[in-house]
Amino acid sequence: MIGDCVIRNAEVEGCPGLDVRIVAGRVAEIGPELDAVRGDTIDARGGAVLPGLVDHHLHLHAMAALQASVRCGPPAVRDAPGLASALGAARDDGSGWVRGVGYVETVAGPLDACALDRLHARRPVRIQHRSGAQWILNSEAIRASGLADVWHPGIERGPDGHPTGRVWRADGVLRDLLPAAGPPRLTAVGADLARLGITAVTDATPDLPHSSLAALTDAVRSRDLPQRLHLLGVPLGSGPVPSIGGRVTVGPYKIVLADSDPPDLDRLADTIRRAHAAERAVAVHAVTRESLAVLLAVLDEVGCVSGDRLEHASIVPAEVIDRVRRHGLTVVTQPGFIADRGDDYRARVDVRDHPDLYRCGSLLDGGVPVALSSDAPYGPLDPWSVIAAAVDRKTESGAVLGGRERVAAVTALAGYLAPPARPGGAARRVRLGAPADLVVLGVTLREMLDCPDSAAVGTVLVDGHVVYGK
Ligand SMILES: [Zn+2]
Repeated sequence: MIGDCVIRNAEVEGCPGLDVRIVAGRVAEIGPELDAVRGDTIDARGGAVLPGLVDHHLHLHAMAALQASVRCGPPAVRDAPGLASALGAARDDGSGWVRGVGYVETVAGPLDACALDRLHARRPVRIQHRSGAQWILNSEAIRASGLADVWHPGIERGPDGHPTGRVWRADGVLRDLLPAAGPPRLTAVGADLARLGITAVTDATPDLPHSSLAALTDAVRSRDLPQRLHLLGVPLGSGPVPSIGGRVTVGPYKIVLADSDPPDLDRLADTIRRAHAAERAVAVHAVTRESLAVLLAVLDEVGCVSGDRLEHASIVPAEVIDRVRRHGLTVVTQPGFIADRGDDYRARVDVRDHPDLYRCGSLLDGGVPVALSSDAPYGPLDPWSVIAAAVDRKTESGAVLGGRERVAAVTALAGYLAPPARPGGAARRVRLGAPADLVVLGVTLREMLDCPDSAAVGTVLVDGHVVYGK
């Protein structure tokens, strides 16, 4: 029977020795030694059964593209000679171009076309900055793309009017100029997510073009992507999105406040009003002190609705925490960045800002709902390592950054258990009638919380279908 099975000898909500019967994709019975059933039997061998994890902010197509890209930052590449050899050894993308990702200035300083030419001039190269906000093209890439003939405020130009090779937040423009390639397949991304115990994701890519939207819903339909999918990038005023049996949902409207320029207050207010008028909450990307201040000022004027979210909240001064709470904003943050980039922050971020970086504990204590996520591919995907980072706040070198922001492991896990439509809300539970989106661990919950490790994920089900199993 489709979606029918029984999980034997599991720990459920702290009680050991229970069986969980799943009928038609839902939890139908929980108890000791349930009768034999139709369908498969999964032996939990005493391990815990949890609700599947929800990654509340990631970028699916960028994750898939990353798998076909050259890593241009630490730990793969740490200096200019390393970057030159990585680019030299890189396979092209099938159309002669080399695509690099994850660049950060500690590798070879601020790059432009001339600097990139010294590393690799033979083939067209485009490298994405680790922030995701900037691309750097070498001279061959500028020539091959015809970038000089395009006008866009994100295309930086030198005094002679020629592009410098730096392009800010103009992914749509670049996409049009580059050799045509459809959105990448999501099969490997879906399998990776399943292996980690993730049964639902929120794609936070802004303003998805129709082709991307269609590719995403097709991937859910075909189960290339076995997870449920919540979309923030459905443009305002776009038509209905196919729900694929309820597995695809439309979330708040994603708004990106540029990290580099001050946002236009009137335009931001207008966009938020239009989203709210269309019965969409907003999910606003704010990674600087300034952009958060502007957002809060605009929200003072236009007001918030239930479901409005603040994405990243990379820097939150203590004195605005209560304003964030009063607006009813949920913070969707990524403590994984502390583990992944913490040493870099310690070196480059003003020491006075260190306590304000990727807050978690102080937000919760201040009454602000917090959801956790990866921001993959820009942050580390593994939710168990993100949970560990939320608990110990340790950088790669072992330094503690923002010790005040530590949370208990069970609190961090709860940040991954709220439903996609209510990040920061109550954790889902394994109970009768709930959709069988479940993770069977090879260990008890206590053991997993003491030592979070994705290797302990055993079997993963979505709607009662096994999407990963050891
Ligand atoms: Zn993001």
